[in-house]
Amino acid sequence: MPSRRLVFGLSFLLACSTTGSRPAAPPSATLPPAVSDDAQPPLGKLPAGVRPLGYALALEIDPTKERFSGTGEIAIELDSPHSVIWLHGADLHVTSASVDGADAAYAQVDPGGVAKLTLPRTIGPGKATLRFIWDAPYNQHLRGVYLARADGRAYASTHFEEISARYAFPCFDEPRFKTPFEVTLTGPASDVIVSNTLGVDEKLAANGMKTLRFGATQPLPTYLVLFAVGPWDEVRVEAPPNELRAKALPMRFFAPKGRAKELSFGAQAAVPILALLEKYFASPMPYEKLDHLVIPDFEQGAMENAGAITYRETFLLYNEGISHPDLKNNVADTLAHEISHQWFGDSVTMRWWDEIWLNESFASWLAARIVDQWDPSLDDTTVLFNRANGAMSTDSLRTARKIRQKIESPGDIQNAFDGLTYWKGGALLTMFERYIGPDAFRAGIRSYVAAHKNGLGSTDELLEAVGRAAGRDVKAAFRSFIDQEGVPLVEVKTSCDGSRGRLELSQSRYLPLGSEASRDRIWHVPVCARYGLGTEARESCSLLTEAHGSMDLDGCPSWVMPNASGTGYYRWSLAPADLARLRDDGYTSLDVRERLSLSRALLAAVRSGTLPVADALAAMPYLSRDPSGEVAKDPIGLLGFVIQYLATGTERDAARRFGGELYLPVADRLGWDAKPGESSGNRRLRDAAIGFLVDVAEEPRVTAEGAKRGRAYAALGGQSFDDKAVAPGLAGLALATAVREGDAAFFRGLDARLAKSDDEAIRARIIGALSSTRDPILAEKALGLALDPRLRENERAIPPYVMFSDPAMRETAWKWTRGHLDQLSSAFGERGMATFPGVGSVFCDSAHAEELKSAFGPRAGANPAIKRVLANTVERVSLCIAQAEAQAQSAQDFLRKRFAPARTGTRPPGRAAP
Ligand SMILES: [Zn+2]
Repeated sequence: MPSRRLVFGLSFLLACSTTGSRPAAPPSATLPPAVSDDAQPPLGKLPAGVRPLGYALALEIDPTKERFSGTGEIAIELDSPHSVIWLHGADLHVTSASVDGADAAYAQVDPGGVAKLTLPRTIGPGKATLRFIWDAPYNQHLRGVYLARADGRAYASTHFEEISARYAFPCFDEPRFKTPFEVTLTGPASDVIVSNTLGVDEKLAANGMKTLRFGATQPLPTYLVLFAVGPWDEVRVEAPPNELRAKALPMRFFAPKGRAKELSFGAQAAVPILALLEKYFASPMPYEKLDHLVIPDFEQGAMENAGAITYRETFLLYNEGISHPDLKNNVADTLAHEISHQWFGDSVTMRWWDEIWLNESFASWLAARIVDQWDPSLDDTTVLFNRANGAMSTDSLRTARKIRQKIESPGDIQNAFDGLTYWKGGALLTMFERYIGPDAFRAGIRSYVAAHKNGLGSTDELLEAVGRAAGRDVKAAFRSFIDQEGVPLVEVKTSCDGSRGRLELSQSRYLPLGSEASRDRIWHVPVCARYGLGTEARESCSLLTEAHGSMDLDGCPSWVMPNASGTGYYRWSLAPADLARLRDDGYTSLDVRERLSLSRALLAAVRSGTLPVADALAAMPYLSRDPSGEVAKDPIGLLGFVIQYLATGTERDAARRFGGELYLPVADRLGWDAKPGESSGNRRLRDAAIGFLVDVAEEPRVTAEGAKRGRAYAALGGQSFDDKAVAPGLAGLALATAVREGDAAFFRGLDARLAKSDDEAIRARIIGALSSTRDPILAEKALGLALDPRLRENERAIPPYVMFSDPAMRETAWKWTRGHLDQLSSAFGERGMATFPGVGSVFCDSAHAEELKSAFGPRAGANPAIKRVLANTVERVSLCIAQAEAQAQSAQDFLRKRFAPARTGTRPPGRAAP
């Protein structure tokens, strides 16, 4: 139902539009034929020839109602005569549509939201104005305009990326169409009403409502528009003026009612992070203000709407002494990521979704860089390093996708927003920045951002700008990584001729054992090596563009690290003699990420079958004693793999005992309680070591302590959790242990707490803990939470994921999941369901691979996102089978030897060979 007519028009747009400068000409015989209504609906891009010049939208959004309504005008320009205009609109009840005042027929012709506007007469070329009146239900799956509830209150917000603006208003829902938006919102007078710009006029309306008119935006694509109406609490800060910005920038932070104090860390971090980004781009924040809104139910981590960023709770709220300490990284990294999008993505936008890496890879890379500058103690660069390593594992699959791939359908678009785009892309930029040099790289980015301000950009334009600044062509090198899938394996051998040293390099595709992909592939790999020369460490870089190459060194090195500072996006291996020298002479000269890179090189060699797992296991005691917590916790991944997949029976007990030997001393040294001023590395080591001992090694003493602390933390006799009982980083683990070791009464008591908390982080602890039960009856109840109305949509996947991760409960979880796929599908929505087959990645046998295919295959339909996730998952299972077959004997030999009866089993770990 339309609530009101537009009170303003588009005259300013029509008068001064520069994009629409072509004079209107009368139709004539020389013009192309009119586009008529017999054309097929365009399911990918809209056809050329019609483009929007500006929108004027007025919406009434009352979060206490079931529907919202709107009226809107879209100024358009047509290149040729049209009798039909294709645009987007999904689930909108359009009650009136017209073109230049004459009635037109609007119809949604495709479930994905393609709409057809049949005109009363042929119009164009030239300008025209479309007018619509509509109403629509709030979206049920966190898209378009939707409602989120917390503490009995309803909040309305929008989430439009990638293609959900069409659920809010009729539009041309593609990123290449950047236009100004004039927005007017009407909502309850007591609510906060926010959009992309500052309000310029506010009036009370009838029935306890108010109307806010916002200033016209800079040119924006539909996916960056935001409307929000709800009872948020507000904190205001100001980013003071600086050499780039003459005026202070208003920043408002909005938390769900009653939670404003949890905004203080984010609000403090945002001001310096914004200043660092302005300095990096050498240009001020592109918009007049910057709001940050926490939405109580949110699909993603955050969304970079221009001037009005929206966040999931755990990506902006932080509660000292209660929140998990890693949430600080989350908040700082997310702020830097989303604020950097204001330039990269918002001000300069990609033309189509195949270029989304321009947004996401850049924001991921730059966020880590900026957070490291702001607070090095958060060690955000190591967080990015670890994420990039995870991406390498996906990228090693035969079924991996390219970062830049063809986008033809809505499912392809969702497909493009995966870990490869974010973390492989972020790692590539880290690698090329080091290779080109940070100053030249930054100069290239600055000139690209300045040249395309408020417009569109592309990979080619960016690479040309970086190439100009660097004084060399970087296109071929970049493209070799973004236009083909896979991770290079760089094999390195030192050669010495008198005082001259050289690295012999060769490359092929890194493949795990069992892979059916081809190794035959060439990248232009910027290889940077550090090496020892006398008492010094030097660095040399070269671009490896062929299958074989070499790099001259300044002399004959005593050791070589083939991936300087771990910034290269490649796997590497050293000739055995070189590896021994790196271990014996170089290890103490390596930085943290180089030591991590060495640890990951061993793991990669085990996975590819080139290193017996026994040799890698022999190196683990050495790595586990590394002074950096980040390195010391790294062997846990390999130990978990051995315990779960390579060892059975008594060998599994021996593997657990081996893990206990490495990490019990660590847990005892670090204790359960946080130490004031300890490094993030030590804190993460404590959390990882205790987590490993409880969940994987099943060490009785630590498990008993965990359960005791979990019960004390739950404090079920009282009203709320006892935050003093356990460090925040271990609270989730302790609570889960208490459930696993506890009885039905404890389970029920904890379950009852769900209704009492609206805090996403606390709720996730409760749901995760309940899902950790091993009692068959309680497990059924825990899995049922996925469908429980008390859960928010973004919490529903927790129970199955947690239970799949426990080998003892995996089969229970799988049986239940297979029996409830229809219900899960409607609870998760199509988008949530697309990533869900990933739960099966933990299996390691062919029967389950077949079951995964038969369960999820028929649901994939034509959706490329679910197809890809399923293909990745089935491939991971088959690789695990091949690796377990190849390495099980080696693992068993190692464990038998180590715990042979003749020896006492307490052999000191010694300095083992990496
Ligand atoms: Zn992003």
